[in-house]
Amino acid sequence: MKLELVRGMRDIVGDEAVAQRVFKERAASLLDSAGYQEVILPSIEYYDLIAAKAGQELLDSLYEFMDRGGRKVALTPELTASATRLYVTRFRDAPKPVKLWYVGPCFRYDEPQRGRYRQFTQLGVEVFGSSSPLADAEVVFIAASLLKSIGIDTWLKVGNISFLRALLQDSGLEGSGMLSAIRSLDHGRYEEVEGSLNARGKKIMEELMGSRKGDLDYWEGIAESELPSAVHGLRRLKKVVELIRAMLPAVEINVDVSFARGLAYYTDFIFEAYSHSMGEALLGGGRYDNLVEELGGPPTPAVGFATGVDRVALLVKAPEVEKVALVVPLDEDSLGKAGKAFSAVSGRPGRHEMVPGPMSARDAIERALKGSFHYVVLAGNREGPEEVVLRDLSSRTQKTVKLKELAQAL
Ligand code: AMP
Repeated sequence: MKLELVRGMRDIVGDEAVAQRVFKERAASLLDSAGYQEVILPSIEYYDLIAAKAGQELLDSLYEFMDRGGRKVALTPELTASATRLYVTRFRDAPKPVKLWYVGPCFRYDEPQRGRYRQFTQLGVEVFGSSSPLADAEVVFIAASLLKSIGIDTWLKVGNISFLRALLQDSGLEGSGMLSAIRSLDHGRYEEVEGSLNARGKKIMEELMGSRKGDLDYWEGIAESELPSAVHGLRRLKKVVELIRAMLPAVEINVDVSFARGLAYYTDFIFEAYSHSMGEALLGGGRYDNLVEELGGPPTPAVGFATGVDRVALLVKAPEVEKVALVVPLDEDSLGKAGKAFSAVSGRPGRHEMVPGPMSARDAIERALKGSFHYVVLAGNREGPEEVVLRDLSSRTQKTVKLKELAQAL
């Protein structure tokens, strides 16, 4: 039998597992207090739901299969499609906006590397039913606050995909041609797109590659004279950036009109968050105003983001937990007493552990010292039936305490 992991899979242990939990806990409390409703989404969806708007890149990395009932299904590569399905089937008549959040496993048959796995966890937020620029800014604020809550200083990259869409459309690109051009631009491969552009497209695109990526007034002027369909998106981006700056005055914001994101459903504002110490994006999102309708719901604007819990956890130090007491039975007859001692201290602040033993007092003390505990609780037969020895490992003193007073003695 093979015991090695399937390629691209991993066991998450030790501090990394703790860091993931801490991030999820902080996120849950922050999102709960900001009025977002938690939903738990399945990991298997119909292939057609995923394929509807995923884009070729995601489709190329899908784990897809026929289930035993002959249904063509896929493991979720991201959860926005599932959240949108849920919105359409369960929340479409709820008062707007509907604010949901989720955390769950995602699967992509990518080339594994540090920070890129075939199974990873996404934590995401989706807001349905508001087209206000303030909804975009709120989502960015929530994203930055989540990362800040675990001590990660972020910088943001923001843009609006509608400018590139207008530019590509002006050159006659649409449908899958447009999507594959956006994907190439997302990967910085302009040369793959150049050949499909008309003269105006080439001129604007070459300028976009230059140093004026963030000059929204300049691009608005260009759009007004050459690409009128891009004007609305640029003005909207300006408003969203203004609102983000007001909500996150200390965060560095890199506005980039040439910015593209690979997922096919984005229609307008897009953003990513980065830390200063990691090249890969920690989080990405944007506005997808057509997806609800494309999945059969009423026209409903939507905006959201998803963050990779695995990637974020690589940057988080697991918090140190104070190790208070190690409880050890010294002989077979004292197993019950040790159990009672453990139940008396268990659940109190800090860490309290039990070694089921039995073992000698000397070994118990050594074990507790190695484990950096403050105390060792020795349950033996020299004391009364309701008494244990409490040894303070820093002062190397010990005393006999009654079980019912043990918790207070620590
Ligand atoms: P996306 O759904 O591609 O916009 O990704 C959103 C976030 O999920 C990224 O910013 C990453 O933090 C995380 N992510 C995406 N793909 C992977 C992967 N293969 N392994 C780990 N994290 C990932």
